[in-house]
Amino acid sequence: MRGCPSQDKGGGLKIRWRRPAWVQIPPPAPIDSFSIYDLFKYDEGLIECLRRVYGKDFNDFLRSLTSPPRRYYIRVNTLRINPGDLLDLLRDKGFRVYVDEVIEEALYFVVEGPFKVPIVDEFVVVDKFAAESVYLGANVYAPGVLGLSSGVRKGCEVNIVSPKGVIVGYGVVVEEPDKVLERGRGILVKTLVSYYKAPKLHELEEYRLGYFYEQAYPSILTVRVLNPLPGEVIVDMCAAPGGKTTHIVELTKGKARVIAFDHSKKKLEKFRDNLRRLGLEEFVEVYRTDSRYLHLDYPWLKADKVLLDPPCTALGVIPKVHDEKRYIDVVNSREYQKQFIKSGYHILKPGGILVYSTCTVTIEENEEIIDFARKVGFKVIDVGFENVGSRGLEGYEFSDLVLRFHPHVHGTTGYFIALLKKT
Ligand code: SAH
Repeated sequence: MRGCPSQDKGGGLKIRWRRPAWVQIPPPAPIDSFSIYDLFKYDEGLIECLRRVYGKDFNDFLRSLTSPPRRYYIRVNTLRINPGDLLDLLRDKGFRVYVDEVIEEALYFVVEGPFKVPIVDEFVVVDKFAAESVYLGANVYAPGVLGLSSGVRKGCEVNIVSPKGVIVGYGVVVEEPDKVLERGRGILVKTLVSYYKAPKLHELEEYRLGYFYEQAYPSILTVRVLNPLPGEVIVDMCAAPGGKTTHIVELTKGKARVIAFDHSKKKLEKFRDNLRRLGLEEFVEVYRTDSRYLHLDYPWLKADKVLLDPPCTALGVIPKVHDEKRYIDVVNSREYQKQFIKSGYHILKPGGILVYSTCTVTIEENEEIIDFARKVGFKVIDVGFENVGSRGLEGYEFSDLVLRFHPHVHGTTGYFIALLKKT
């Protein structure tokens, strides 16, 4: 038996869950020993829908969802520090960090891996969110823990395993599990080897000082496409946790009127934390509301620019250690998104601009929404940025005007950006 001090009983698959008592999980195994169809439980309708987008590349697309972005990006809070100065501070700390070729306030680290993760007998099962963090090198914290194999105690070497049995890392248990789990916070396992490795930035002084915001590349690009200017009235319809709103404030140097809406109480709390950390609270008006009815509930709104980054099926978000979705989720999401488009149209001044973005790849939630927007009265304008990502899928009048990112092609989140003008 490998992995534990004075181990007396077998590890095995029977695991101790936090509650109730004992549950079975599939035998832990490395991610590449799973078939992609075991990891991605998509119904027939959704598979067809994705085949319409990716055709013969469908399997490449699906497999690529288990890889993280090739580059791990942060966006510099330019109201606090210059990109060059932050670059120097991080390099002085030993990080290999670079300036993006196109967006000067974007810095990136190269994600390392895949690594070979040692396999031991004991394991800790964590939820999907925690598994996807550990997969990139994070430690295991109490709230993410779902269960333990029978011999896990302080000092054990363990595998960290997703609820589907995918091994995402290997590490050592740093405290008696009962104590940590009882307390409900703190580190249970220090991760020593993870499948991939991204820098751990939250412990840095520079993070605490609000010098940067971690953000996927296409998300950073979205606000660049919006091109917010000082003096404008800018509405972010689905703003929390504020990744894009805070970028708008930074690019306009706090000199635009930025009005941010979101519906979720919990995410708005996270938004306020982010505004506080970045020192941008005074530059944003934040409201909790259902943004599908902004034109009715806030009849005074007259925006020059609107950012619409609505909820979506997030099929492009990477890495995923597993996923489960149905085609009906896509359809529901599309119908919901249409309602925001209408409300976005009403709150814009004539000639105003709306940027629509999603972190998903379906035609329903992207091209079909743009078709709908044209019927509502929007005209599609070129997003610019010729040398990044790809243009839209073929077969639409506006194919050459919109941007798409594909995980298996660009090594980024799967993403869509369109620029619309109210006519
Ligand atoms: N733009 C954000 C991410 C937005 S994710 C960023 O860059 O950080 C989509 C957001 O839409 C979520 O925060 C969710 O709470 C919000 N949302 C969902 N339904 C909504 C509704 N009906 N009205 C307003 N916000 C909504």
